[in-house]
Amino acid sequence: MLDVRNLEVVYDDVMLVLRGVSLTVPKGAIVALLGANGAGKSTLLRALSGLLDVHDGEITKGSITLNGEPIHHLRPAQVVQKGVSQVMEGRRILGELTVEENLRVGAHTRARQIDANLERVYGLFPVLKGRRRGVAGYLSGGEQQMLAVGRALMASPEVLLLDEPSLGLAPALVGQIRELIVEINKQGTTVLLVEQNATMALSIASHGYVMETGKIVMDKPAADLLSDEDIKEFYLGLG
Ligand code: ATP
Repeated sequence: MLDVRNLEVVYDDVMLVLRGVSLTVPKGAIVALLGANGAGKSTLLRALSGLLDVHDGEITKGSITLNGEPIHHLRPAQVVQKGVSQVMEGRRILGELTVEENLRVGAHTRARQIDANLERVYGLFPVLKGRRRGVAGYLSGGEQQMLAVGRALMASPEVLLLDEPSLGLAPALVGQIRELIVEINKQGTTVLLVEQNATMALSIASHGYVMETGKIVMDKPAADLLSDEDIKEFYLGLG
């Protein structure tokens, strides 16, 4: 279980961006984190991945624990080693390397499992297997997104953090990504899904959180969020 308690994050020593965020991702679940641009979703993911430093951000209060063990003081590579892997928004793949080289880069911390993980990723994304010796920069947007997810899975994460996986994808591809998240979860990986596409996220999540200006303003079973007309209109833009 991944647990965030009363987390405060400040950028540039002064700008308070997370104002006491608490959130729980139970083992085996898919949890959706929703909210408008600027609400603080990416900041929370950076905090979870140990990536605040590079953005001049820091945790000033609260804690992040994985199965009871604090992880908020760890460096990014240590967080991955503990079992939390993030798929970056914007598909930050290495365009000049081949597809398989990109996947192997993701595996650097768990060398023994590389072959099994490659099989898992190629099983989930057969299109990547077909193009494994091809240069990643030539993949389509949807394929690059798959490669970004595949790369995160190469670290055998217990918890996968997904930042806007449907961003910029055509509706048909959004459906594919949705099915893949369900499949990855069925294979035993816990998922925290950050999405602007609230309908997609809530359709596969068991629980949803809505963030607004650095705070959690809604915390409910996904089905309740989807069926409440007021919430849909005011918080999710689905009215
Ligand atoms: P988006 O979907 O646009 O990424 P978000 O919900 O993920 O939005 P954040 O990117 O976490 O929101 O941004 C939350 C707030 O923190 C915003 O007001 C933003 O301007 C500010 N912010 C983000 N990164 C930094 C930074 N490196 N330095 C200072 N302020 C930042």
